Amino acid sequence: MNRQRFVALGTCALAGLPRAARATGGLDVADPGPAVSVRVLLASGSFAGPEPIDAWHFGWSGRTYRGSFANAALPDGRSALVNVVPLDAYLAGVISSEIPSGWPDAMQHAQAIVSRTYVLGRLHPDKPYDVVASESDQHYSGIEGESLAGRAAVDSTAGTTLTYLDAPAHVAYSSCCGGRTADAGDVWGVWFPYLPSIPDPHCFGTPNYAWNADIPLANVAAAFGAPFAGIGALRAVRLESNGPDDRPRGIGFDGDRSSFETTPKAFRAALGAAVVRSTFVRSLELGRAGSLAVTGTGRGHGVGLCQWGARIMAYDGASAQDILSFYFPGTALGHAQPERERGHAG
Ligand SMILES: [Zn+2]
Repeated sequence: MNRQRFVALGTCALAGLPRAARATGGLDVADPGPAVSVRVLLASGSFAGPEPIDAWHFGWSGRTYRGSFANAALPDGRSALVNVVPLDAYLAGVISSEIPSGWPDAMQHAQAIVSRTYVLGRLHPDKPYDVVASESDQHYSGIEGESLAGRAAVDSTAGTTLTYLDAPAHVAYSSCCGGRTADAGDVWGVWFPYLPSIPDPHCFGTPNYAWNADIPLANVAAAFGAPFAGIGALRAVRLESNGPDDRPRGIGFDGDRSSFETTPKAFRAALGAAVVRSTFVRSLELGRAGSLAVTGTGRGHGVGLCQWGARIMAYDGASAQDILSFYFPGTALGHAQPERERGHAG
């Protein structure tokens, strides 16, 4: 696909919106869409019961939640606590949990549109819940997690989602891309023209940009088990960066008997996201004390919106649509239309 064509589509996106919407950067889209509830998994297995407060609120685990709660059964037989919450109330709890309230309005608006688009693509009426209240989907922590800025962003962007060729876009975001976003195809094996790997100059030097880790080789051996042990005495480590961008494609360990190959994604999953903070590994070296010295940039999977980069774009004067057009080239603003309303559920 021709990248320039998608970029051009993105810059023309405002042309199709009403005059009022164009005047406000495309955010003043009046139709709030149909009332939608989100079912958020709060806990599974054994948990202390929630406490009803009134018809619209309940308390659980020291927090207050909007909406109602339901007990559900998971496919594996465990019980689950699910918060059934109106879409915008859910989003208010998400925006403020995902980014600080002091971040600029344009970034708050961009986050609201991306978070709304994300959750509307994950309504599964045939399953016990739609999303989980953590990083696996989106951070969500009820009323205590809400801020005025987050609520204002949800209201300002009511009903607005990200679309591609008039269909809902599949969106993703992470804390920091590390200087270049990741192609969704490289991370999840599913390619979208608006989720390519693009250079991002905005997040350079922000707090989550650079990281390093000194990982004991015993931890690497424990994480990978027999396939790693089979290589014998470790002689060298390799970082393979043979893709079209400078993000690494593979990590190799050469022993005196054989070699073991893995991907940055599997390496991060095996050693833990708190240690290997991104898949954008920049260097690997064998340390003197039986450890692996790793440096990298970014935090998270790196696909789609880079939150720290978007923050800097907003400070530099970018609108929410500027931010979204940069991180999701070729997309446009559209209206909320959840899967279940279109009859495509399941
Ligand atoms: Zn970035």
